[in-house]
Amino acid sequence: HEYHSSPAREYKIEVKDRDMNQILVIGSLNMDVVVRMERLPALGETVLGEEYWNNPGGKGANQAYAARLAGGQVAMLGSVGTDKYGVRMLELLEKAGVQVMDIQRDSGQSTGTAFVLTGTDGSNSIVVVPGANSTCSSEYLAENAELFSKAACVLLQLEIPLESVCSAIRQAKTLGKLVILNPAPARQDIPEDLFPLLDVITPNETELSVLTGGPAGTVEEIEQSAKLLLYKGVRNVVVTLGARGSLIVNQNGALLVPARKVSAVDTTGAGDCFNGVLAVALSAGMPLEKAVLRANLAASISVTRRGALTSMPTLEDLESLWQMFSRDDMS
Ligand code: AMP
Repeated sequence: HEYHSSPAREYKIEVKDRDMNQILVIGSLNMDVVVRMERLPALGETVLGEEYWNNPGGKGANQAYAARLAGGQVAMLGSVGTDKYGVRMLELLEKAGVQVMDIQRDSGQSTGTAFVLTGTDGSNSIVVVPGANSTCSSEYLAENAELFSKAACVLLQLEIPLESVCSAIRQAKTLGKLVILNPAPARQDIPEDLFPLLDVITPNETELSVLTGGPAGTVEEIEQSAKLLLYKGVRNVVVTLGARGSLIVNQNGALLVPARKVSAVDTTGAGDCFNGVLAVALSAGMPLEKAVLRANLAASISVTRRGALTSMPTLEDLESLWQMFSRDDMS
């Protein structure tokens, strides 16, 4: 199942401030409330739930956590409320060694939350309240210019205001930093002038399709749609394909990096794991295709565990797989 339209090997991404080796993750922090019930209530109906629990998450927090566990030196910018959920999110990240001191504490907002109703038949209904994530403003990010200067790589997603994402990317690129955008959740209104500032964009199949308007079913279709992003000026497109792995598309062609075969129990957070680990590998100067292999391997561990943040592999977990899978003859 190797897929090569032309070789994309040994493609080196220059990292200007590699010696700084710090990853700056800019994005959301959420504390989700998950309720399990036999079946979801109909409109106006009340049902009894069986149990509920909190799931720490938010793509920003998940990616920062994954990057830190994989050995990165990670700082995060984002916004939480001063409620107990915000406090717990900061504690969790800090305990893992993420630098959280510059995360904004907004007393006027609740910490971002998703209310997730799940039925035992697998159905679900979700209400997301962005809360403090919506006050992660361009001004706040600009006030933290020092973290931008210290970083080798800036990693972002789309769960904070788009305007803030755009200004952060411009700020990072003015300093010549490596910029990785995980365009999730999907949206089609990313300003055209942003694409040439992206070193790497990491959509999944759905996000690629929404971004480009192109089909994203077969690997050939995905390559064609990914090329539309290259034409817009993105330097490297890495499409995550679930159990199929990831497809790298850049000026050198396309390369499918297959996933490790595992029996997945929960794929929540797999994309976040992938992005966090990719950022660590690229900041350390690893060539793109090796970095993608490493991110695939990390994500393949995360899908064998439940939860998002709680499923991220440690450096130790990752290294034992890496020994087996990263040979020089790898393609
Ligand atoms: P996704 O966002 O679903 O495309 O997943 C992100 C990454 O997680 C993929 O590129 C794979 O590296 C990994 N992944 C997701 N699902 C699986 C799976 N079922 N088996 C192995 N790896 C997976």
